[in-house]
Amino acid sequence: MSNDKRWTPRTLAAQALGKIDPLTKAVVPPIHIATTYIRDEDNGYSSGFVYGRPDNETIREAENVLAMLEQAKAGALLFSSGMAAATAVFQALDPGDHIVAPRVMYWALRSWLMTEAKRWGLETTLCETDDLAQLRAAIQPGKTKLVWIETPSNPLWTITDIAAAAEIAHKAGARLAVDSTCASPVHTQPLLLGADVVMHAATKILNGHSDVVAGALAAGEDDAYWQRIKTIRKMQGGILGPFEAYLLMRGMRTLHLRAERQARTAMGLATRLAAHPNVARVLYPGLPQHPGHDVAARQMKDGFGFMMSIQVTGGEQAAIATAAKVELFKRATSLGGVESLIEHRASIEGAGSPCPTDLLRLSCGIEDADDMFSDLDACLKVAHR
Ligand code: PLP
Repeated sequence: MSNDKRWTPRTLAAQALGKIDPLTKAVVPPIHIATTYIRDEDNGYSSGFVYGRPDNETIREAENVLAMLEQAKAGALLFSSGMAAATAVFQALDPGDHIVAPRVMYWALRSWLMTEAKRWGLETTLCETDDLAQLRAAIQPGKTKLVWIETPSNPLWTITDIAAAAEIAHKAGARLAVDSTCASPVHTQPLLLGADVVMHAATKILNGHSDVVAGALAAGEDDAYWQRIKTIRKMQGGILGPFEAYLLMRGMRTLHLRAERQARTAMGLATRLAAHPNVARVLYPGLPQHPGHDVAARQMKDGFGFMMSIQVTGGEQAAIATAAKVELFKRATSLGGVESLIEHRASIEGAGSPCPTDLLRLSCGIEDADDMFSDLDACLKVAHR
């Protein structure tokens, strides 16, 4: 079945590309845990495997599923976390290179760019990447080598036009990398829209069960830059463990079911919350009033994702009081699991965050949509008493 064009990505993912163990005919391939491999008598490695830090068969199997989902001709690479994957993209640049990145993005990566990346000689300009005029103006011709975008982006769910951003980056001789964690390959395939590299915090909806920390990159071109990213993973030891890769592959088998259901639930919840008297604003790209809705409708399919934020009337105290009372939603960081999560984001992100203090971030799981609404409705009412 392996990546056969007759089958849809949904079918191929459900069977993890249909790999059958040749020894036992097991429909679930074994987890390969060996760290080292026998050399041939002529000193070669005819199996293609040498050592566990550069490579592993279970990792390759999960990478092949992700590469299929992203239509990544150069393949995919799994890392020990989303941050390990993302930082490899920046570390593959040269000292003195300039980066353009969004002001509204995953806060820990923004913080890394503003601190650690500087020490590597990388300079970053932050701008609103959804505003293409701002994006164009932030580019330093000849110096900008990478445009990084996140869409939809944490925690305002801003939408950046991937095809337009790719055109702007390429015209300036830069590459475009997309953090597509919150879109997932079910809704958006950035490489098909012109991006050069796509990144996932696979910890989130790709795995989907809040029990693996993992990161992933996928690329369209097997060029020198991709080779350099491969070398960074190999030499710095950022590869994912085989048990985690197995769990991730198990998660990806149900990705379409989960992502489509979670997006449908999120859309219904966003619509109901937008009419709630204790909610000042709902930020969800599926709503027609969201500033990025038209672009999202063009570049996302089968839904608008599982993430949204609400701004609560009554400000920060009312927002914190709402989150304090949840029973079904779990008060926890992270996103993309089967269980719904709620978080007061400003208190996590701290000073310098563009996140409003009255904002609660919601990750919609697979629970019953009416149950989810009634939990939030009850908490909003109690917090506003
Ligand atoms: N990108 C996004 C959009 C995220 O939400 C996260 C984590 O929350 C990351 C990257 C980093 O992933 P990880 O926590 O696996 O390092």
